[in-house]
Amino acid sequence: MDLLKQRIQTDGLILNDSLLKVDSFLNQQIDPELMMKIGEEFANRFSNEKITKILTIESSGIAVSVMTGLILKVPVVFARKKKPTTTTDDVYTTKVYSYTKGESNIITISKKFLSPEDHVLIIDDFLANGEAAAGLTKIVEQANAKVVGIGIVIEKSFQPGARKLTEAGYRVESLARIKAFSNGKVQFL
Ligand code: 5GP
Repeated sequence: MDLLKQRIQTDGLILNDSLLKVDSFLNQQIDPELMMKIGEEFANRFSNEKITKILTIESSGIAVSVMTGLILKVPVVFARKKKPTTTTDDVYTTKVYSYTKGESNIITISKKFLSPEDHVLIIDDFLANGEAAAGLTKIVEQANAKVVGIGIVIEKSFQPGARKLTEAGYRVESLARIKAFSNGKVQFL
C-alpha cells in the first residue's frame, strides 16, 4: 500500500535496528483518513472471505479495526491486556509476550463476544515475532471459531512472525512489509 509506505518514510522514526516508531499517525496521534484507507485495503484483500467479526488487541490495533469493521459491517472485539475489575463474565485467556515492553501479559476476551459460528479476521498494527497475533489465534480456537486470516498494518519481515504464522497455515496480509532498516531509512520488500 503505497500511501502507507510513503507515510512510514516521511513520519516513521527508527529507534534501533528493530523498532520503528509511528506515533504521529498510528500509535498515539491517529490519522483517521489513513486509518479509513487501511480499512478499505483490508476489506478488499479479504473480500472473498466470509467474516463475522474482527479481533484485535488494545490499543493500537483498535483504530484500523474499527474502520475495517465499519466497511465490512461487522463488530470489532479487542483483547484486553489486563483483566478489568468490572469483568464478571467468563473469559478466554492466553499469555502473550510483549515485544515492545519485554514482559508477558495475560490477554483476555469475554466469552460472550466469540462463538463457534464466528469467522474471525485478526488485525494488528505491527508484526514482529508473531506473539500477539498467535495469542489471538489461540483465543479464537478456544472459542471453536474460525480464523479467516490475519491483517497487519506494518510487518517487519526480517523478524520471524510472518513466516511462523504462514507456516502454521494462516493467511497473513501485511500492507507494508519492511525488509530492513539501513542508513536510517526503511527498506521495503
Ligand atoms: P509480536 O507480538 O509480533 O512480536 O509484536 C507485535 C506487537 O508488538 C504489536 O502489537 C505492537 O504493538 C508491538 N510492536 C512490535 N514491533 C513494533 C515496532 O517496531 N514498533 C511499534 N510501535 N510497535 C511494535
